[in-house]
Amino acid sequence: MKVKIVGVSNTGTPTLQSLISYVIDGALAIDAGCLGCVAPLSAQRAIRHVLLTHAHQDHIATLPIFLENVHRRGEKPVTVYGSRHTLSLLRNSVFNGRIWPNLEKLSIDGEPFVRFETIRPLESFSINGYRITAVKLNHTIPTLGYIVEETRGRRQTSAVAIVSDTGPTKEIWRQLKSIRNLKAVFLECSFPDDTIELAKLTRHLTPTLFRRQIENLSPSVRVLAVHLKPAFREQITEEFSAMKFPNAEIGKLETTYNF
Ligand SMILES: [Zn+2]
Ligand SMILES: [Zn+2]
Repeated sequence: MKVKIVGVSNTGTPTLQSLISYVIDGALAIDAGCLGCVAPLSAQRAIRHVLLTHAHQDHIATLPIFLENVHRRGEKPVTVYGSRHTLSLLRNSVFNGRIWPNLEKLSIDGEPFVRFETIRPLESFSINGYRITAVKLNHTIPTLGYIVEETRGRRQTSAVAIVSDTGPTKEIWRQLKSIRNLKAVFLECSFPDDTIELAKLTRHLTPTLFRRQIENLSPSVRVLAVHLKPAFREQITEEFSAMKFPNAEIGKLETTYNF
């Protein structure tokens, strides 16, 4: 399974993850922070399923643009998956006919722009050879982490988890204990340690909190730190390096990891 951390840049070399999106095997996206900026357009058109973790702006910012970019007359619409809470925020605050057209209603009336699908925590479902399980995280609004298992026929071959955004949490680590072939966890590390109070208030992790979370994982699982707030990226990177994690590293932007 190939997981790409999508970066945003106007210089050609992205160094900041200010908007959040991950693309799995070119076809399945998690979050749409920068999905609508992915080039070339054919790469956006290959994505037909988008799983949303939550409705914070850095995770949904370019969803309207993405849906417009990939729309093709007569083709099946993109499916956007999210919790009831996330989808209700999208309907009421984004696709409301004021900020952006109500694409869901337009789709029902004829033009296939989008299909919203409500998902529930711990009720696994399948998308084209992937088994997806959403798990509640600990954030300021209802947020889901995702366990993505690649299956060939009946065989599960590899699994990864996207765990962001979250403060210290428990359920996801419990769930991951029973996942076979867990190769990697993409775990947020938003703030440096000297802003730990702010991190706790906004339910995020710092390197120290990150370290306590990954103690729940087997050391054979590779951990990639993601969602570093751009203003603190250098400081977090320094603190992170000083901890000398044997199995954790900072996730590189515009990089595809192969598991
Ligand atoms: Zn958030
Ligand atoms: Zn975020």
